[in-house]
Amino acid sequence: MHRPISPMPLLFRCAICLAASLCCVAANAADWQVVKQQGRDYVTFDSLAKFYQFAEYTHVNRTVSLRADRRGIRAQSGTSEIYINGVRFFTDYPILSSNNEELISAVDVSKIVEPVLRPNKIKNTTKVETVVLDPGHGGTDNGTSNQWGSEKQFALDVALAAREQLLRAGYKVEMTRSGDTGVSLEDRVKFANQFENAVFISIHFNSSNGGAGVESYALAPAGVVSNAAAEGLASADVQWHEGNARDEQNIALAAAVHATVLSRVSTFDRGVRHARFHVLRDVKIPAVLLEGGFLSNLFEGQRVATPQHRQQLGIAIAQAVQNYDRAVNFKSSATPTFAAAASNLPPHERSITEPLTDERPAASGSGRQPSVDVTGAH
Ligand SMILES: [Zn+2]
Repeated sequence: MHRPISPMPLLFRCAICLAASLCCVAANAADWQVVKQQGRDYVTFDSLAKFYQFAEYTHVNRTVSLRADRRGIRAQSGTSEIYINGVRFFTDYPILSSNNEELISAVDVSKIVEPVLRPNKIKNTTKVETVVLDPGHGGTDNGTSNQWGSEKQFALDVALAAREQLLRAGYKVEMTRSGDTGVSLEDRVKFANQFENAVFISIHFNSSNGGAGVESYALAPAGVVSNAAAEGLASADVQWHEGNARDEQNIALAAAVHATVLSRVSTFDRGVRHARFHVLRDVKIPAVLLEGGFLSNLFEGQRVATPQHRQQLGIAIAQAVQNYDRAVNFKSSATPTFAAAASNLPPHERSITEPLTDERPAASGSGRQPSVDVTGAH
């Protein structure tokens, strides 16, 4: 897919269009070491470290670790995972090793690393006014269930808790269902697409033999195979869908929801993944689908059945919307010229996953952190 490129400094442009445009990378070869592997573009972690100004770059056996003040990336070749600020992401292509250098695909840099590390560089973002909450299932469709209740009830309860917090924070909230009613996936999408300056959050719970933890899904970018285990047959679909116009917002929102839930609920991190679930495919506003735990797991299933836990999940979702909203709309005071960029890259930006590693409110951060007004923004 090709998107129009607005005039902006080459250094910034390169990270964003890395996957889409080879010429862009070639023009800036001094910054990015591009390596062709398995027919696609990869870049070295060394150039990733330089571009994002990670002062510390270590490489032990197959594990690379990039560290900077309050930020970090860790990955291991042979896997399809990358940890950004401690949060697990599934990459669309495996991390490779060649000539004693670890490599990450250009697609994963542009579709995961860049929007997560620098959410305020994402194009076409607006202040969030409306949050569309989508409790999964309903009516005759119970979703999964355990001895304490069903997914449809638990998801609705989490959505209602999130709604209360979001209203308090000044957002408008719309619900695809606010009672025990059946709503088709098509109708959920149609409903969500009425709203502008909005985000869509679908809430579900999982079930499987032996599964545990929380996972979050953003729509898979066009051309890459879904990495959702549940999507066996759908993985043949790699087409562009309406929701792909929001690839960068989608992953930033998913990262915000995932990181905030993990910071509030002690659980296993099953990662931020790419999928083509119906509601993610066709929704035109930034969208995430949260699987908030496994009802089939004795400990988690019992915990989800407590109102306190569902309240915590609702609070986390509301907090995530605020984190996302702040991060994508943060405008750096630094003039983004090439020279400024080269000497003043992150951490003058906020990372979307920051709350996981540091829960201090943004406004009380040190001088190096942007001061963002959370309360009066809406
Ligand atoms: Zn479900």
